[in-house]
Amino acid sequence: MKNYAETELKDMEVLAGKYREFLDLGKTERECARNIVKIAEENGYRNLEEILEKEETLKAGDKVYAVNMEKAVLMMEIGTDDLEKGMLLVGSHIDSPRLDLKQKPLYENTGMAYLDTHYYGGIKKYQWVASPMAIHGTVVKKDGTALNIAIGEKPEDPVVGITDLLVHLSAKQMEKSASVVIEGEALDVLVGTRPLEGEEKENQVKNYILKVLKEQYQIEEEDFVSAELEVVPAGKARDFGLDSSMIMAYGQDDRICAFCSLMALLHSKKTAKTKVCLFVDKEEIGSVGATGMQSRFLENTVAEVLNCLGQYSELKLRRALKNSSMLSADVNAGFDPLYAEAFEKNNSAYVGKGAVISKYTGSRGKGGSNDANAEYLGKLRQAFDAGEVQYQTAELGKIDVGGGGTIAYITAAYGMDVVDLGVPILNMHAPYEISSKADVYETSKCYKAFYEM
Ligand code: MN
Ligand code: MN
Repeated sequence: MKNYAETELKDMEVLAGKYREFLDLGKTERECARNIVKIAEENGYRNLEEILEKEETLKAGDKVYAVNMEKAVLMMEIGTDDLEKGMLLVGSHIDSPRLDLKQKPLYENTGMAYLDTHYYGGIKKYQWVASPMAIHGTVVKKDGTALNIAIGEKPEDPVVGITDLLVHLSAKQMEKSASVVIEGEALDVLVGTRPLEGEEKENQVKNYILKVLKEQYQIEEEDFVSAELEVVPAGKARDFGLDSSMIMAYGQDDRICAFCSLMALLHSKKTAKTKVCLFVDKEEIGSVGATGMQSRFLENTVAEVLNCLGQYSELKLRRALKNSSMLSADVNAGFDPLYAEAFEKNNSAYVGKGAVISKYTGSRGKGGSNDANAEYLGKLRQAFDAGEVQYQTAELGKIDVGGGGTIAYITAAYGMDVVDLGVPILNMHAPYEISSKADVYETSKCYKAFYEM
């Protein structure tokens, strides 16, 4: 990390505080989307739905937001240039690896009640046992009422969790390879042991849990069918390190980039180009579905805005997308000296050394990657130097050690310039990930310099 001036360190601390709060308020994509909408409204952004309903028009300087199924959000500040000249987009994802409850999750076994899960995204399953977990999500009743719940975050709340075999009896387990030490079907969450009093002999512990769910959360067993409940690590984001230079928290991939881009959008100057901040869902399972980057949410929203500006045509929509520049805002691996063999030192990102540009991602010979154009990177270097941003470049680990992807290749299909740019993270996809406050600070500055280029 470089030596920062007193004032910069102060700004960094303020930003880190806001970031921790952002993480605490958004531990699922729905919660995060809700919080982003709240912040957008506080900053003068208006719901596009409302503008469409009232058949209002839009003009340069207007600020709007659109929400896709409560899980993805697009914020836009309309510039003075015609939209067909292109936009400046920063796109991140707000879903994170976790354990989703199955549709029929609740069962009892030997006097203990469990909730069965199906993991979401790439996880090392053995990391998710023997620690406190919370249940967050939405239950939709048959009549359409939606209940939002979060159990396990308040100090007085109970937590839940997954048990692991005691070490004394683990001789055989310890011989297994790490990928099967804990298997997917063993990720069942222990939720109770108290039996319901009554005549019945069977399933009285499960019945007690049903009573609790009914009395405290108005949830019945059948309601799990129309629910999205996510088991996530319990607790708040914390300062990390004896020098408090880092942050440890669940879900920093990729809410860290979501936060930095949101801050950049809110604090950047008015520009000729239209600025867009996009927060999508489902990246961790391939950007699929109606709320993932592969859906038409971006395209449809830009079409609606063009229409409200009195500029809509299919051709103008295509031009607006093609002429845009984008930062695919996603995390990269921070170099970890304890696992140095997985990295190539010269082309790794270092925690605390600023935002990281990844020209390409992918695996086995750049497979599946968006390999950004040199011309585009040249332009960005100029913008970042003008904004006095500290940045670095990196690949995701050594060649053929593994790999990964982002949303970059999806928007690149419109013919726009896209490159991955985000924050280096330690412990990526572990229940608690680690980031550097300096990188949150630099990456926010980086996205701001991009919006102002
Ligand atoms: Mn990511
Ligand atoms: Mn990820």
